[in-house]
Amino acid sequence: MAHHIVTLPGDGIGPEIMAPAVELLAKLGDFELEEHPFGGASIDMHGTALTDETLQACKAADAVLLAAVGGPKWDTTDPAKPRPEQGLLGLRKGLGLYANLRPVRPLPALYDASPLRRERIEGTDLLVVRELTGGIYFGEKTRTADAASDLCEYTVEEIERIARTAFQAARSKVCSVDKANVLETSRLWREVVTNLHAREFPHVELEHVLVDNAAMQLVSSPRHFDVIVTENMFGDILSDEAAMITGSIGMLPSASLGGDGPGLFEPVHGSAPDIAGQGIANPLAMFLSVALMLRHGLGLESEAAAVESAVDRALAAGLRTPDLGGEAGTAQAAQTVFAHLE
Ligand code: NAD
Repeated sequence: MAHHIVTLPGDGIGPEIMAPAVELLAKLGDFELEEHPFGGASIDMHGTALTDETLQACKAADAVLLAAVGGPKWDTTDPAKPRPEQGLLGLRKGLGLYANLRPVRPLPALYDASPLRRERIEGTDLLVVRELTGGIYFGEKTRTADAASDLCEYTVEEIERIARTAFQAARSKVCSVDKANVLETSRLWREVVTNLHAREFPHVELEHVLVDNAAMQLVSSPRHFDVIVTENMFGDILSDEAAMITGSIGMLPSASLGGDGPGLFEPVHGSAPDIAGQGIANPLAMFLSVALMLRHGLGLESEAAAVESAVDRALAAGLRTPDLGGEAGTAQAAQTVFAHLE
């Protein structure tokens, strides 16, 4: 049976990069696609960033592919007005997405676009697995005139499920990042990860690293990492730090996975209103998000690898969109990648 995918083009450059992604899927196999308005586009049509109908459609799909949302048209400080990002939060919550996966794999053709020296980043191929629904971002908040607090809480179950995602994604090694020398939640984190490792994944190497040390190692020897697993706030910061290794935001895909339901796959970048409508958006992060969807969402590893290698080879052959210092527009970039698909 054909895999059923809900596509959410969203706003700004979103529809411009979703169109070639849909074309790419058509070249790879038989996929049943269902498009829904989302974010600002949905606010314009229905007054809300995520309708019940769209959420139900996403829940019933095998995977959800999102481009980007947001833009100046919907920017507002009025809390009563709907905002595009509410769609993202609603979707994450509605689909129970607790794991955010961000691969960082600088492509050889773009080594010199990185702020780090080529010899530092050569061969880097790591995955940051961030816990997405717990920790200090979601704990109780208090505020008085002269003090404030944010509670950081984790349960054994929350830690176990994110650690399992990380061990399953690892090829050789998991680096669990915490602050166990000072935080009680980190001491529980370390204990739970250690126990799960012994019980279910003894064949994977496990290492515990303090977050300050991990931040240093990410820039001094990124090659050293395979999978990094960490809690919500550490993951937020480390995944952005790791992203800089690749040098361009137009290249980074991400996946958010939940329990039994579909995963959500999207580029890390936003809707780029400054270049929307010009036909120059880089579609590669979107293509690499399709690859993540094929691999982690639909179990189609060889199709995923085919997309990644077509992107690699297109870049090696000289493809550069304006954000990478070249002149190829979105359509030309897409055609170049298609020409390298095997
Ligand atoms: P952005 O990622 O949209 O853009 C940052 C810079 O990178 C811009 O100069 C843009 O032109 C460039 N850029 C981004 N993607 C590109 C691509 N594929 N090709 C070429 N250049 C690209 O971030 P921003 O400007 O801070 O935010 C713009 C809007 O996007 C805001 O409304 C923000 O809320 C929203 N946003 C949405 C998401 C999402 O949908 N997940 C994520 C981040 C920001």
